[in-house]
Amino acid sequence: MTSSTEPAVSIRGLSKSYGKTEVLHGIDLEIARGATTCLIGPSGSGKSTLLRCIAFLEEATGGTIHVNGRPLGFEERPDGKRVRLGPQRIREVRSGIGMVFQQFNLWPHMTALGNVTEALVTVRRLSRKNAEERGMAQLRHVGLEARAHHYPSELSGGQQQRVAIARALALEPKILLFDEPTASLDPELTGEVLNVMRKLGEEGMTMVVVTHEIGFAATVGQRIAFLDHGRILLNGTPGEVFSDPRHPRLTQFLETYL
Ligand code: ADP
Ligand code: MG
Repeated sequence: MTSSTEPAVSIRGLSKSYGKTEVLHGIDLEIARGATTCLIGPSGSGKSTLLRCIAFLEEATGGTIHVNGRPLGFEERPDGKRVRLGPQRIREVRSGIGMVFQQFNLWPHMTALGNVTEALVTVRRLSRKNAEERGMAQLRHVGLEARAHHYPSELSGGQQQRVAIARALALEPKILLFDEPTASLDPELTGEVLNVMRKLGEEGMTMVVVTHEIGFAATVGQRIAFLDHGRILLNGTPGEVFSDPRHPRLTQFLETYL
């Protein structure tokens, strides 16, 4: 059983190296359940790497991640030894995590509905009919039911990203991760994507959002974590982090992005 006060994700001493270069240096972070956590920080600070470790798209080189109390990928034994878990246990925990990327990564040869239902049929083994029902419900959720039979090339960037969100939602994740979901959109299209995300937050989805949209982070984020050079420098409510930005690195960052 997981209690509602237990964090959805608990990260302890997480480090990640590429070759000899360590890019995450012992990250400790708890992701609150049912809340939106915004991860901000300069380019190259390690935001994507951290998110990809939580999605297990990258394997951390040290430390542990627990998702709803269960170890993801690695666990620490009582003797302190860090061991890799078997593929089945990795799959089970990973299947509760969805991810939305900056580049929407839709299949160009499939319609919006095809994109949303593909994994439901091939991975989750739903019947085509069930998959399409669930897919349509998720397209409705993001306001795109009327575009179900359109191809990505026939959709705006904002619509494509909403299809990508519907695709992630269709797999019924417990946690949804977003890596700069509006960074490739024209400014007039970011609002529709942020609105969908705001709605998901209000519905109680646990989300981690890497974003340079400081206005969104300040209004929708319930927790803000500021990452710099592979370390969490600040972590708290928007009020705590933004209203008193005495930290020189945060001040510098905000001057660049506000
Ligand atoms: P952010 O998302 O905050 O811009 P990243 O997580 O993408 O930062 O990158 C953090 C650091 O890790 C950067 O110095 C980047 O060059 C490095 N890095 C990211 N991915 C790789 C990789 N696949 N191989 C080597 N270095 C990488
Ligand atoms: Mg990045």
